[in-house]
Amino acid sequence: MQHYPVYLAVANQTIVLAGGGAAAVAKLRLLLKTEARLHVYAADPVAEIVDWAAQGRLALHRHAPVQENFKGAVLAFAAAEDAVADAQIAAMAAQAGVPANIVDNLADSAFITPAIVDRDPVTVAIGTEGAAPVLARAIKADLEERLSPRLGLLARIGKLFRPRAEALPHGRARRNFWADYYFAKGPRAAEAGDDLGDVLNALLNEHLAQHPEQGHVDIVSAGPGDPELLTLKARKALHAADVVIHDGLVAPEILELARREADIIAVGKTGFGAHTPQDHINDLMIDHATQGAHVVRLKSGDATVFGRLDEELEALDAAHIPWTIVPGITAASAAVAQIGQSLTRRGRNSAARLVTGHDVAGYAEQDWRALAKLGEVAAIYMGKRSARFIQGRLLMHGADPATPITLVENASRADTNTISTTLGALPDAVTPLTGPAVILLGLAPRRATETNTEPKELVQ
Ligand code: SAH
Repeated sequence: MQHYPVYLAVANQTIVLAGGGAAAVAKLRLLLKTEARLHVYAADPVAEIVDWAAQGRLALHRHAPVQENFKGAVLAFAAAEDAVADAQIAAMAAQAGVPANIVDNLADSAFITPAIVDRDPVTVAIGTEGAAPVLARAIKADLEERLSPRLGLLARIGKLFRPRAEALPHGRARRNFWADYYFAKGPRAAEAGDDLGDVLNALLNEHLAQHPEQGHVDIVSAGPGDPELLTLKARKALHAADVVIHDGLVAPEILELARREADIIAVGKTGFGAHTPQDHINDLMIDHATQGAHVVRLKSGDATVFGRLDEELEALDAAHIPWTIVPGITAASAAVAQIGQSLTRRGRNSAARLVTGHDVAGYAEQDWRALAKLGEVAAIYMGKRSARFIQGRLLMHGADPATPITLVENASRADTNTISTTLGALPDAVTPLTGPAVILLGLAPRRATETNTEPKELVQ
């Protein structure tokens, strides 16, 4: 995006426009819809502009603008339709610190104006950064047809009613009320010429009478990072959520899938590092759900794997809040897929273990004797800090130092990194890792080409 779309507050602000011909008139048509104070500078304006001035809709100055005319303006338009004059106007605006638009000169304009579908206060702005004006016009025509001419009226009256609607619980209950107004009762009433204030009052009472819907919590698995590894259920839940409470490992691209209005709350929980106390996370979920919100508790990978899920479910049960779990792809699955291996293989290992490098007590003890056997496969989570400990325990229990090990960092993400090593070299191999990594014990990458030990820019 080379241009950032914004809605600028212009009520009672000064906008300067220089020019008195067709280009000026075209810009003024739209500017006249605003509540800005318009100052037009034109030595020889067309009749239309003179009329608008006579009606008091703009202030007309019958000369080209001078530097001091730009003082305090919020925007300037150079519409003299003369390259030299327009450049001078833009230069004066720049000198005064006022962004200027030069008509039909994208490159030298500080801002450009979009095509607009006007259902004031609902306005849809369409911009193509000058790439395809035809496309902008086609989209505009399409929307003009699709959006009811009464949409503006509905929105104006709806806006006045917003404080009253706060009587409904935040979240789903309130959304349902507005959906009912904008898409069902409102348009019908507007069509019939009914008083929309009355309609809103009746509708509010109707919605208040219904029991506010109880909130609930979806424990959603976000997968290892690649948004395409989300389940459709996870996507739907994100789309419907009022509140998303997520762990630090959840990729930003996945959070983007939440509704724009959703409350997004980060609760970091990283192994040995800083973390949000579990009680606080539980309280957050319970508070929001009690207020009727649809809460998504978003956990990286599969929520049921090393995610302290049970503690959260117990807290929800104690608060009588309904929950569901949406399963997902755990880091181990993504990691083995990436190196072209399977977690289990006939004749090699009939069981694969998911183990953690540390637990509440520190380094986690495992059935080392079993893990040390030839052909065993394990995916070790949170194992970077414990690598030396794990190596020591396995060797002590008779594991071969040549046992293959693959480290998969940032599995499924663009910045993924695979390191092929052996048990003997494990502690040194983990040193360069900065992102989340799974240690695959007993597995080497299937194809050497998939190994990548180049240092990369890593994102935690
Ligand atoms: N529930 C998660 C695991 C959470 S514990 C899951 O099912 O994947 C956090 C550990 O998961 C990290 O220390 C790391 O070992 C592993 N992990 C999470 N995302 C990862 C990724 N994209 N690549 C490699 N390992 C990852």
